[in-house]
Amino acid sequence: MPIDPATLRVVSYPDPVLRLKAKPVAEVTDEVRAVATRMVELMREHDGIGLAAPQVGLSWRMFVIDIPPGGPDPEEVVPPGALTSTGGPTVYINPRLTEPAGAVEVLEEGCLSLPDIRGEVVRPPVITVSALDVQGKPFTQFAAGLLARCLQHEFDHLDGVLILDRMTQMSRMKTRSAVRDLERRAAKGR
Ligand code: ZN
Repeated sequence: MPIDPATLRVVSYPDPVLRLKAKPVAEVTDEVRAVATRMVELMREHDGIGLAAPQVGLSWRMFVIDIPPGGPDPEEVVPPGALTSTGGPTVYINPRLTEPAGAVEVLEEGCLSLPDIRGEVVRPPVITVSALDVQGKPFTQFAAGLLARCLQHEFDHLDGVLILDRMTQMSRMKTRSAVRDLERRAAKGR
């Protein structure tokens, strides 16, 4: 049955779809493009900078990111040739990440599927992504700053991984009751 993109909504933790390992997109069709367009719309509605397909209930390996230029903070060292923003909303289909060995940094992250929860997550500061665009054409980006951060966060969603799994112990403790609230709310709605 074809998907009606208009019916897609952002789903919240603990929706089980967020924990699945998503399946590769077999072919970049009009349906996939329509879903991507809807995902960009939902990301904007929720003031997000990234949204993965599992977050709209589709266990597909695809996400969208929109990080306006504005640059990283002045203290951040950006390697030559690295992107730190996207030139408008960008769709990544069947993405693969390659992270260099070595340095990691701690930054606070939020997630549209975890309302009111923010926590510190440790990740590498630079990353290379290879993916297909909405025309099915392969592209590669070398990313740093907020873009590198966002790529890794969205990629995690495709493997059923949430920031809850990656937070520092301190953040985990601080957000525990908010996480329980979400679980309780979901249990009541069932
Ligand atoms: Zn997220």
